[in-house]
Amino acid sequence: MTYSIKQKLYAEFMLKKIGMTNNSDIAIYLEHLENLYGKMVSFPSQKSYSGIYWKYSVSACIELIKQEIDLKQSINSIEFCLPKSTFSATDLSNYEYCPASFVINNSFKIEKPSGVEFTEIGKEFHNKLLATRTTWYEKKNIDFSSIDLDVKKVRDSRLIFAGHQEDDKKFNNENWVGIPDYIFQDLENNYFVVEEKFHYKKDPEDIYVYDEYTAEEAEKEQKAWSNYKAYFFSNHIVQIVSYIKNIKEYSLKYGYLLYWYYDIKNDEPYIHKVLAKRINLNEQTEELYSNTVNGIKQLGTNTETLFQIDKLNMKKCAGCVVNKYCGHKTKRFEMLTFPYNLNFLNLFYAKFPDELKKSNM
Ligand code: SF4
Repeated sequence: MTYSIKQKLYAEFMLKKIGMTNNSDIAIYLEHLENLYGKMVSFPSQKSYSGIYWKYSVSACIELIKQEIDLKQSINSIEFCLPKSTFSATDLSNYEYCPASFVINNSFKIEKPSGVEFTEIGKEFHNKLLATRTTWYEKKNIDFSSIDLDVKKVRDSRLIFAGHQEDDKKFNNENWVGIPDYIFQDLENNYFVVEEKFHYKKDPEDIYVYDEYTAEEAEKEQKAWSNYKAYFFSNHIVQIVSYIKNIKEYSLKYGYLLYWYYDIKNDEPYIHKVLAKRINLNEQTEELYSNTVNGIKQLGTNTETLFQIDKLNMKKCAGCVVNKYCGHKTKRFEMLTFPYNLNFLNLFYAKFPDELKKSNM
């Protein structure tokens, strides 16, 4: 259950062509692609009683890298987008996630995003207004075990606003715009904002389908997951802070960040855990917010900035929605220009592995 030798050689070759040189980075990038896109796939089989056979596949990982090379071989097809006079809560989140991600999202029309399936599933879950439907949680026996999550607060609060449609009302404050997922009013009449994120995570309760786990390992994995309390990402926190600070229609006192974890069974996504964190305005969150806003302003004024290669995280890059448009994950560029310079998308020479010549993958 992982890349075959030939798949690995081919994937490594393609990543070197993209410009990656560090073997450890390549290994982490491939491993995390597999965590995200490796899956059991079905196909018709005469050998199986049901006529369907399941096998583990990493083809989607290979395909994603191939698509990046295709895109970079036809950079003239990439359209630039018009400069904006406003920045959104999502822009702030993108900048904090990675300045290159912010620049790419604000330079190009992103017609070939990565992880589209995850975005679609996230939208479907969003539309179910899970944060308001606590009876749904009771029926499905979802684990609301986080010490940070006061579910009762959401349940006893009044829903004021749910932003889930394309034409939703946008909130504005000078050159800031945003649409939060929810605004609630609690029992003390305080308004608070809720942002929910959906993360794909293999359900350890279903881990037996993956052959390499022994019963003991599966049990250990399940226990670790049930104790897991989540790491809440600063880019999501800054997004919530921007709502608290910029939505003037309601005096928002605090926010909640909800992480819903889902798996997919028989093509049906289902939630198996949720964790949450309360976000308050304090010295730390104010600093996070002002650093992000200032970073964006400076990029807009100076049109270039230093890019901190040492802060790159290959796991993040593998999960990045705009990774196909990015040259910075190769660690070759210490400057970042705004708009994103097409030269960053250049491909490089890489030797095609002898083992793959005249053979089928
Ligand atoms: S691929 Fe990595 S370096 Fe590039 S934009 Fe995404 S997170 Fe940033």
